[in-house]
Amino acid sequence: MCAINKEQMEPKFADKSWNPAVEQTIWKKWENNNIYQFSIIEPKNAFVIDSPPPYPSGRPWHIGAAAHYAQIDMIARLARMMEYNVMFPIGIDRNGLPVEIYTEKRHKIRMRLMDREKFLDLCRVALDDLETEMIRIMKSMGISANFKEYYRTDSGEFRSLTQSTFIDLWNRGLVYLANRPNNYCPDCETTIADAEIIYDDVPTQLVYIHFKVKGTGDNIAVATTRPELLFACQSIIVNPKDERYAELQGKYVVLPIFNREVKILSHHSVKPEFGSGIVMVCSYGDKNDVNIFRELGLKEIVALNKNGITTAAAGPYANLRVNQARTTIIEDLKNAGLVEKVENIMHRTPLCERSKTPIEIIPLQDYYIKQLNYIPRLREIAMKIKFHPEMHRQILLNWLDSVAIDWPISRRRFYGTEIPIWYCNNCQTPNLPDPGKYYRPWKEKPPFEKCKKCFSTEFTGEDRTFDTWMDSSITPLFITKYKKDQKLHNSIYPTEIRPQAKDIIRTWLYYTMLRCFQLTDKQPWSDAWIMGYGIDEKGEKMSKSKGNVIDPYPIIHRYGADAFRFWSASEANLGQDFRCSEHRIASAQKFLSKLWNVARFISSFDVISNTSLGQLAISDKWIIAELSNLIEECKKGFHEFNFFIPANAIREFTSNLFASHYIEMVKGRVYGTTDEIGQKSAVSTLHKCLSTILLLLAPICPFITEELWTKIYSSKSIHLQHVPQSQTNYKELTKYTRQIMDFNSIVWNKKKETISKGTGKSLSLKESIDLTIPLDLELFKEDLQIMHNLKSESR
Ligand SMILES: [Zn+2]
Ligand SMILES: [Zn+2]
Repeated sequence: MCAINKEQMEPKFADKSWNPAVEQTIWKKWENNNIYQFSIIEPKNAFVIDSPPPYPSGRPWHIGAAAHYAQIDMIARLARMMEYNVMFPIGIDRNGLPVEIYTEKRHKIRMRLMDREKFLDLCRVALDDLETEMIRIMKSMGISANFKEYYRTDSGEFRSLTQSTFIDLWNRGLVYLANRPNNYCPDCETTIADAEIIYDDVPTQLVYIHFKVKGTGDNIAVATTRPELLFACQSIIVNPKDERYAELQGKYVVLPIFNREVKILSHHSVKPEFGSGIVMVCSYGDKNDVNIFRELGLKEIVALNKNGITTAAAGPYANLRVNQARTTIIEDLKNAGLVEKVENIMHRTPLCERSKTPIEIIPLQDYYIKQLNYIPRLREIAMKIKFHPEMHRQILLNWLDSVAIDWPISRRRFYGTEIPIWYCNNCQTPNLPDPGKYYRPWKEKPPFEKCKKCFSTEFTGEDRTFDTWMDSSITPLFITKYKKDQKLHNSIYPTEIRPQAKDIIRTWLYYTMLRCFQLTDKQPWSDAWIMGYGIDEKGEKMSKSKGNVIDPYPIIHRYGADAFRFWSASEANLGQDFRCSEHRIASAQKFLSKLWNVARFISSFDVISNTSLGQLAISDKWIIAELSNLIEECKKGFHEFNFFIPANAIREFTSNLFASHYIEMVKGRVYGTTDEIGQKSAVSTLHKCLSTILLLLAPICPFITEELWTKIYSSKSIHLQHVPQSQTNYKELTKYTRQIMDFNSIVWNKKKETISKGTGKSLSLKESIDLTIPLDLELFKEDLQIMHNLKSESR
């Protein structure tokens, strides 16, 4: 016997609870030791994460986005523990409209009324502030990315790559200029792509206007939500199958107020049940009008100018904003007795994703990148990429099915990558520079002397910028040093994984596939990992107007990064939306306290490796079998990069089995109440379980696991260890788990119900009780008897 005096057993560390304040010290240690370095020399085993460059658009950073980055970090940490050479770059996306709007609001200025250079400077300062804060949050969350070399999409290096890739496509004939009806946001004053449009039900009026049918004296009622476009009407259409109006087809009507004749035609797109079943076709009420104009060969009337103001063609309604023109003409039509009725309806309306303004369709001259002829190949790639979760592949496939026009890429904005073109003043030919440098044609002289066509020497620089997706769609190329270190690029591209949010599948995911395939003939990554949205406690979307936005920084400060990360993993099942609440984060913190207490207790006993042991005791074999199940369960989640599975499995095992049952069962043995073999067996098993729990939890909670690991097991970081292997021995013992737990509960309840003669209170857990161990648990008799201080022998 080697009974150890309990008082001699001291935990290896004094702190009685996990203190998140040490997280920042640990972070600095990691940073100083460079433990997350990607090795350029050994690209064989590379695992490149095409991490999303966050956009610093304002405060606070969305808690859902912070949770998203925490999970991307779990992917990186897991991959390292799977012995990959992980490249985890971090970029900041700085191009585009949001910062322009933010700067205009902040300084109460208008971009177009300012000197461009000065405006860009103000944007840059705003971005720097927001970026500093964002990086501070990321570091405080324990993100193990390469912050030393973080990149910005507005740097000369990044923009020159965007421009170079454009020049490449231009030279290959994949870019063209076209004047065609395009989506236009009157507030942002720029063209936008279909991918940047959202649809929402907006209240509007459906106006039934009387039109005279020529030569019959009859009136027909035309139902429209866009009466202000009456002057741009070029036809009246009915459904060819609508028998009510079969007679009308081919006849002419007279436009009220404008007294112009247009023909009545038929088109299958007319819904007989909408309004009166007779609609007008104007240039352009909506996307459908664009198709009908083309199909029926109608002549376009330009209704709105670039500022969303009605043109001279509107006659008395010229020079008005759309809403003003609408109110005025409805009034005039009513006064003239030309309105049959007005219905208030909810109308599905295309809105600008950024400013939420209704989109107008205006003929504009824009640059387009060819995408339609790539769709079949992109569909093949879409089927080859492994999606996590699989269900989100469908969002991409649906989008691929709906792409109907090429990609308009020119924007009438300032804070973006400039389109690198100079136009010859003599012959207007666009002249492009050689790729490889960053060009600003709106302020710089061209890097060539003469027009390639007419040899003239006077040029005007293009002043438009690219759609920002032109920049962010080449992140897999930029991070793998495409065109900069071609040898490295060839060895690590295509990359391994694109983690991103669900709402940018049709933009970021799609455009990256398109652009990378156009440039490299390869798919950009093998896997796409798609995360859902963070929603509020009641399941509603968070927004500033609802007042339900949660700022992640104070939460991380209060509970620590690990509690935040554990909450994120245990709350967000792969690809599903997840609820954000401080209460749930606080409960994640409780689990970490539990883990700390368990580890502190186990740290009292010297680490014994179980390889030096002979036979393990039966209870120890049993928990090792359960531990193996835990490892396998965690690996299922790891395989899918779904941290929901391991987080919940680890919590369940640690709190509800290991701590509540197993540790209590072996406390007698670890203090030496039996023999030395039994004691060593228990101690080594405690350490086996704890070290395994720490290793499995390390990608999710990097700080607490590091702290405990380095205090108990090794001075070498836990993040340089490997994912533990499960073992298949003793599996049959798990059949006793339910019975053990049930028996323990029976004993505890019995003690609670029994009043002690001495104290007059319930029996304490240490006091003895007269209970029989069921025959099935005979194997565990010894531990159970000591654990519960049972009087009787088993049957
Ligand atoms: Zn807009
Ligand atoms: Zn020329």
